[in-house]
Amino acid sequence: MAQRPILQYPDPRLRERSAPVTAFDAGLEQLVDDLLDTLFATDAIGLSAPQIDDRRRVLVTDPTAERTDPQIYVNPEITGRAMPGIVEESCLSLPGVVGNVIRRTRVRVRAQDRAGAPFERELEGMAAVSLQHEIDHLDGKLFIDRLSPIRRLLFFASQKAKARRATG
Ligand code: ZN
Repeated sequence: MAQRPILQYPDPRLRERSAPVTAFDAGLEQLVDDLLDTLFATDAIGLSAPQIDDRRRVLVTDPTAERTDPQIYVNPEITGRAMPGIVEESCLSLPGVVGNVIRRTRVRVRAQDRAGAPFERELEGMAAVSLQHEIDHLDGKLFIDRLSPIRRLLFFASQKAKARRATG
């Protein structure tokens, strides 16, 4: 078990689409353990495999501050959505960026556990929001893609300003 470095925007690897897991083997066990170790070293709710440079469709979440409710989702698919709402999001791959995004606050998800057993679960509130955010990572999407046009403009302007300072 080990913590792994988290890829940072604008790393192009964050834009790749992850592939379904077909082998429920020791390599997958290692990935799940590393995801949990890396998540637990942060205060975030969820973490996806591509963020630690692995393009398999795996994500972990734990909405509790005490880390008492770790959930593992292999090959997750959202099968039902309800209750759209505006939520404030941030991302371990985009430190310091916060933005309002429209998400569903209630979802039904179908996935497999680390041994390959299928399950379905209903989530609401931040657990539902985090799951959608992490599935976006599996598809190469970032929450800034979902900001309003004006917010996105402001984000890219601030990135340019940062780059100018760093090279000046
Ligand atoms: Zn993220």
